[in-house]
Amino acid sequence: MSRVFNFSAGPSMLPESVLNKAADELLDYEGTGESVMEMSHRSKEYQAIIDQAEADLRTLMNIPDNYKVLFLQGGASTQFAAIPLNFMNGSGKADYIVSGVWSKKAAAEASRYGDVKIVASSADQNFSCVPEVDPSEFRSDADYFYICMNETVHGNIIRDLPETGDVPLIADISSCFLSEPLDVSKFGMLYGGAQKNIAPAGLTICIIREDLLGNARDITPTMLNYETMAGSGSMYNTPPCWCIYMAGLVFQWLLKMGGLEEMKRRNEAKAAILYNYLDESKMFKGTVVKKDRSLMNVPFVTDSDELNAEFIKGCTENGLINIKGHRSVGGMRASIYNAMPIEGVEALVAYMKEFEEAHTAE
Ligand code: PMP
Repeated sequence: MSRVFNFSAGPSMLPESVLNKAADELLDYEGTGESVMEMSHRSKEYQAIIDQAEADLRTLMNIPDNYKVLFLQGGASTQFAAIPLNFMNGSGKADYIVSGVWSKKAAAEASRYGDVKIVASSADQNFSCVPEVDPSEFRSDADYFYICMNETVHGNIIRDLPETGDVPLIADISSCFLSEPLDVSKFGMLYGGAQKNIAPAGLTICIIREDLLGNARDITPTMLNYETMAGSGSMYNTPPCWCIYMAGLVFQWLLKMGGLEEMKRRNEAKAAILYNYLDESKMFKGTVVKKDRSLMNVPFVTDSDELNAEFIKGCTENGLINIKGHRSVGGMRASIYNAMPIEGVEALVAYMKEFEEAHTAE
């Protein structure tokens, strides 16, 4: 069997040991004689799986007791509407930082439900950085303040959290979930799709401060009401059972590794290999300013579309797949999530060097 290194922005690689464990248990989960895929979500065996997954996530992220953990469906995009429907319930105002396409989409969706103010944007710099913020722009009566911590398409990360005072801070962490430690208590809500760092596509995890629940608008669909989901242990309806099980295996993999401090150390080491090469290369250039570079998504370009296309083709032929940049920005992007082994990044950089040398010699 030969496995490729998959640099996709998501769905993306899962740890091989997790896939092997899932394969081992595929037909017979712990002597039950059935697969988790076939199991009733109301069974005691399944309850144990979801409970353990939640407990392990709480340990990994050090989630305080006054936060609920929800295992939902609908992807991160569904939360773009669910967030205003649940929280835009006082002044009807919300402040957004727009640092890439995902926060832009979230702001556009929220503006269908209330008064959205873009308090800072780096659109005019093609999102090659996160925007400077001027706190005097923040509205103290906003119902919440929204950021996308790691913009997957552009490869930037917000490291300095905005000081929002009593206004709850909500962050989309889809593409940096569990990549390094995060102080949950600084947020009203954290959420993300699982298909990058956690599980197969189909699961969305929301971590919500309890006191923010219970004020959803009347028109909020039951399925989008976080209070309903929290009150039913994420089982108001059938949850994404298999994805939650897979998430649980990934949480155990992380715990065994030493938790998020160790994950961060590994992610920094991987990213440094790639960024260091981008900084010394004469052919390949990173597109994000140094201080805002993501550890997870690394976009880069050459100065020619032909070279980009040739490079992408060569990567694919060498088992380095999905290196093409997002259709909205072009060039290349290497997504090096938690499950990407360091060997994958080394192989990519080795091929970049080979490609550059071959083209310089011509
Ligand atoms: N937010 C971010 C940061 C993302 O990267 C993505 C997907 N790539 C989304 C939101 C949308 O996620 P989904 O496809 O789960 O709706």
